[in-house]
Amino acid sequence: MKYIIISIILIITLLSNAIYLFHGPAAEQKANESENIFTYKTPDNEIWINKNKLALERMRNHYISGSDSIIDSLEAENQHVTPLQQLEPEARKMLTASKNNSPYFFIFNSLIIVSGFIFISLVTLKRKQTEQSETSSHRQTEKIISKIQTTEKSERNQSCYSEQILNKSKEIICEILQIINEHSDNNISPKQGLLDNFAKEQVKKIKTSSTIEDLLTIEEDIKKIIPKHFETTKCLVNTKFNELRAMLNELAEDFGSITEDNTDFSEQIKDSMSHIEKAMKLDEIKQIRKKITLETSSMRKVIAKKQEKDAIIIDSLTHKVKAIKEELASAKKEVLIDGLTQIYNRKAFDKKIGDFFKKKTNMKRPFTLAMVDIDYFKKVNDEFGHTVGDEILKKVARTIKETFRLNDFVARYGGEEFSVMIDRIDSHYIMDVCERLRVAIEEISFMVDSERIPTSASIGIAFSKHSDTPKTLIDRADKALYFAKESGRNTIKSEVDLSETLLETVSN
Ligand code: GH3
Ligand code: MG
Ligand code: MG
Repeated sequence: MKYIIISIILIITLLSNAIYLFHGPAAEQKANESENIFTYKTPDNEIWINKNKLALERMRNHYISGSDSIIDSLEAENQHVTPLQQLEPEARKMLTASKNNSPYFFIFNSLIIVSGFIFISLVTLKRKQTEQSETSSHRQTEKIISKIQTTEKSERNQSCYSEQILNKSKEIICEILQIINEHSDNNISPKQGLLDNFAKEQVKKIKTSSTIEDLLTIEEDIKKIIPKHFETTKCLVNTKFNELRAMLNELAEDFGSITEDNTDFSEQIKDSMSHIEKAMKLDEIKQIRKKITLETSSMRKVIAKKQEKDAIIIDSLTHKVKAIKEELASAKKEVLIDGLTQIYNRKAFDKKIGDFFKKKTNMKRPFTLAMVDIDYFKKVNDEFGHTVGDEILKKVARTIKETFRLNDFVARYGGEEFSVMIDRIDSHYIMDVCERLRVAIEEISFMVDSERIPTSASIGIAFSKHSDTPKTLIDRADKALYFAKESGRNTIKSEVDLSETLLETVSN
């Protein structure tokens, strides 16, 4: 910041000098001109100026003598002696400025500028040097750090690499030992057990070893033991080989004695015996495999066929079971439905009313039993035949079904009698619905030979009680029905009407 301020001051100084340089000559000229002017300060502190020194001398004398004529005479000589105060401001400024137009001012200013620039340059130079040195030291530090890092890394890599080598070596040695163990034949080498133990020990040591030196020691031990073992094994193998060769020779000679080309044949046998042995083994295995494969595939085929057959059987069985179930369901339904009227039959009614009284909780929701019996139905049958009677039965059944709600249970109780379990007990509703039924039956118009057959029914009502059984309730409803019949038919009577009549009879 301070350098900026210094620079601004220097620039301003430089500019003022530049202005001075440009305007300097003109001012100097004027200053030169003013240099030829002579001044005289009067006792009244007036400054008189004139280009002529003598004129001023005369002027001074005039002051001293106090004569006025001197001014006129000077004017006559065209030498104006003018007091400074009377001069034009421009001219006065010029006269005073001429005193400032000193070369020292320029030199001084220039010195300031030069020294300023030198100062700034020196400061900048020093700063650059410091920065450069800082940068270089920083770079050096970085280099050193990176070097250290690289060294550390390489050391780490080195140690990692060594570790890897160590581990790999361990693995290889272990593998070698395992291979030796696996490929050694117990029959050939009687010392196999010892080698096994040795190998196990070495493997243990290898696994626990942590340095190359340890491994090298183990390697030495192995080197010592393995040649020994191999020597023994080699000897034993050679013995076995010799035995085998002798046997083959014997065999070849035997064959040779039989065949003419014995030499060739025996040689041939000798050469290829080992191959034959191997080939035989291979062939056997291949054949067994082939057989197994064939067996397996044929078994698979058999199983697949069986599964297919089973699937068909299962499918048909499923269909059959489904059909049976459906038949059973319809049979069950048929058992409970009356064939002629297609409403529930007596069996269904007995089951329904029985089940109802079995559940004690049902007692909380009592119901009304209505028994509906067609009046003089025997007469209908007699006059118009059973077929007509059947048709009327059907129509009456349909009318009863249509009059009551779905919750109510309508059944053919027997013959021309129907039973209805109404899910309500309020007598007003019951009487109302039964009346509607009575009217509906009455309105059935069944025409035979343009003759209308009159139909009517009597209805007996009983309300269920806690103490009721199906029988007691049916009995009461029957009695009410009988009362309705007695009352002239085509009418409705409830158990209440019956008991009221009884009371009346008793009281009478
Ligand atoms: P009531 O007014 O006293 O009931 O006289 P009713 O003739 O209706 O009563 P009754 O018991 O004397 O006769 C019932 C008749 O209903 C006898 C029987 O022939 C007839 N009936 C019963 N079941 C059937 C049926 O399935 N079809 C036909 N057509 N008639 C039947
Ligand atoms: Mg009847
Ligand atoms: Mg009857």
